[in-house]
Order: sequence, then structure tokens, then C-alpha cells
Amino acid sequence: MRISGLFAKITATALVLTISAFAFFAFSQEIPKSSDEIRVGISYGASSSDTVEIKSDCGFDIASAQSDFQHYDVSSVIGKASSSGITLSTKLGGNILSAAKGQEIIISNENALLTVGNTSYRGKIILFINSSGKITVVNKLPVDDYLKGVLPYEVFTSWPEETLKAMAIVARTYAVKAMISSSHASDGFDICASTHCQSYGGTAKETERTNNAVLETSGCIITYNNEVATTPYFSSAGYYTESVSSGWGSSAELFPYLTSVYNPYEDYRRITNGKWENVVSKNDVINHVSSFYREKLSGNITDISYERQENGYINSASITDSSGKTIKLNTSSSVRSFFGDLVKSANFGIAETYVPSGRSTPAVTVISANGTYEMTNIGGYDYIDSEGQKKCLGVESVYVFDGKGSGHGIGLSQYGAKYMADAGFSYEEIISTYFPGTELSYLE
Ligand SMILES: [Zn+2]
Repeated sequence: MRISGLFAKITATALVLTISAFAFFAFSQEIPKSSDEIRVGISYGASSSDTVEIKSDCGFDIASAQSDFQHYDVSSVIGKASSSGITLSTKLGGNILSAAKGQEIIISNENALLTVGNTSYRGKIILFINSSGKITVVNKLPVDDYLKGVLPYEVFTSWPEETLKAMAIVARTYAVKAMISSSHASDGFDICASTHCQSYGGTAKETERTNNAVLETSGCIITYNNEVATTPYFSSAGYYTESVSSGWGSSAELFPYLTSVYNPYEDYRRITNGKWENVVSKNDVINHVSSFYREKLSGNITDISYERQENGYINSASITDSSGKTIKLNTSSSVRSFFGDLVKSANFGIAETYVPSGRSTPAVTVISANGTYEMTNIGGYDYIDSEGQKKCLGVESVYVFDGKGSGHGIGLSQYGAKYMADAGFSYEEIISTYFPGTELSYLE
């Protein structure tokens, strides 16, 4: 294993307030209005269902392409997929309306939440048949109402108010960006409800604190050069974030604000998964490698070479298997992806040592890439079993992965935002730290 001296330049100056405008903006893109509604994919694709039940406490207003809204005073409606489209009926089987393939059924009630499965939603529920012949369920609602259902899933609701506001703005920017252009356009919505985009759970976990953070920042988004910024975020970092060019191979010129920044306030040692370690037998590493890469290898891993940047992230690695095949990884996200569940982020080092067979903890002091570690649980290799027999454990060769932070490392660190607010920084300062050179603007 070699650790070469290739250091990426870390250009951002942390904690310099660069937000310069709080004005309504003349956007060069077609920007959604503050009151515009976002389409959130609740279930879609091959794993979606062919029957969906929607409940309401005070009836429904239902429309399709062929019919205007009409009120139905029932507590439940059921959509069923068929080869020709969707049929919507009451629970007792009374037919309400049908929609052909390619057409939507819109279910609404301005005075009540609509419940799908066990989750209640603000706004409308839209049903249509997808390419798998199942029912795609979309929740269409104003962006701020959507954010009320995002924040409780993306932060701890007990976190400081300034952290919640920063996250509301970052999540709103992410949502508005998705409304302008989205990889889900072909799915028939703007954003999905899972961690793929932003976790969203309807009204289930709404709290007054998170709702207030959304309302008090209403319409506020992050912009760069009069365009909506790209605002990824992740759980935690070990002081440094990763740049978008090294992390995802994206253009540093297009996203100068997604550079590696330093936040000394993030106390990663106190965070779950903020500082982590995994010990794995060398012969077992291959079993942890993500399936995408495992399929490309044809034997155990025999050599791991990597280059670590000054910010800690590994953005270049070369992995060789016993057949001599080598995989080269050129971004930190591909490195993180390669090592699967062995790593929480690409900010890690690998040390080699020996442990007694079957033990998960090294029995010796390890000089790791992050410094010297006094490993606990130090034991001899001999032991006396329950019948008084002296036994000897063999030793095996292991890799120790020790790292900092959790997630892709690009953009805003959620825990970093928490610790900055604890230290007295405002949401504006949190955002200008993680997205240096950007501005805050307001949707009309
Ligand atoms: Zn998504």
C-alpha cells in the first residue's frame, strides 16, 4: 500500500460571510413562483402497487382529464390498475371514474388531509398508470408544505433554530432545482420521497419547530450567478468537506461554490458515525465490496493503492485482485461506493495489521493513516478454554479502515450546521460557509 503526496488545493476560506444580497432576483432561468406546487413521487416504478386506497375525513373532490372536480362524500376511494388505465371506485364498489393510460386522476380536498397507506398528506394526490402497468402515486402541494414533511426526516427537530432554517433553505433550493430540471421528469414528477432525492413523509413527523423554520424562511433559496444553486448535503464531515470535482468528477468551473471547505466547529468525534473504524480480514474485503464492482473482479483483493487529499478524502484508488485484474477509481464517491459497508465516507485511511483469528479487534497497536491508535481489547494469542485446555488462536492479516464523517461530503454537512449554530452562527453564515460565493434570493 502506498500513500502518495498528491494534495488537492483547498481554496475556500471558512466562515467568511459572502452573502451579499437579500433581494428579489431577476433570474436567468425560468424559476418557479413561491406558490407553485411541486410533484412528489410517493410510489412509482415496478415496485409500486396496482391498487391504492386513499382516505379522507370529509370526502373528496375528484377530477380527470375528461371531468371537472366533483365532490364525493365518501371516506375512502380505491384506484385499481387495468390494462386500459385506472378505475377509481368507492369502497363499496361504486364506480367514480376511469382514466385511460397517460391520463391522471386528481384527488383533492382543501379542508382535509388525504391518507395513502398509513401516511397523511397535505395537498392533492394524483394517480396514473406507469410503464410497469402499476399505479404511480404523486403528492402535489405548495413547496413550503412539502418542506414541512422533509425537515423532520433530514434533521433532528431539537437542533438549533438557525440549523433548521439553514436546512429549510437548502432543502427548498434542492426542491426548486428539481422543479426546473429533474432526473424524475420521465417518471412524471419532480422529486421522489426517498433519500435518492430528499426524504419526505407527509405530515407524519411534522413539528412546530421545523414548520416555523420553513415559514420564517419562506421563498428563500440559494443562488449563484442569478441561477438556482445545486445544494447537496450529507450527514457529517471530519472538519473538511469534499469538492464536487474530486467527489463526483463535476466541473469546478460550473460549481465553484461546491469546493472543499473547512469547518472547525464540527465536533465529529461526538457524532454517531463521525469517527468510525472497521477491521476486516484481507480475504473477506471482497465480500463487502458493492455488487456493482464485485462483479468486475474475479478473485480476492490482493492490493489496495490510494491517494489521499489534504482534506482527508480518497479520490483516487487502484485495486488489484488475485487474478491480476485492476480497478481504477477516480472520484471519492466511487471509492466510497466500492468499499460498500466497510466505510461511511471516502475520508478514511487503511492500515494493515494482524489479529488472532476470529477476533474483530486488532491485538496490537496500529499505526493508521489517521495517526497512532492504541487499540483496546488487547489479548494474547493463547487462551484456556472452558475445559482447561490451552488453545492457540492463529493470526490473520487484516485491513483496518478508519475514517471520519458520514456521507458523500459535498455541500452542507448537517452536523456541521448544527455545531455552527451551537457556536452562535446564523443560518446565513452557515450557508455562506458551505456554499461560498452564493447569495440568498427570494422566489416571487
Ligand atoms: Zn429521487
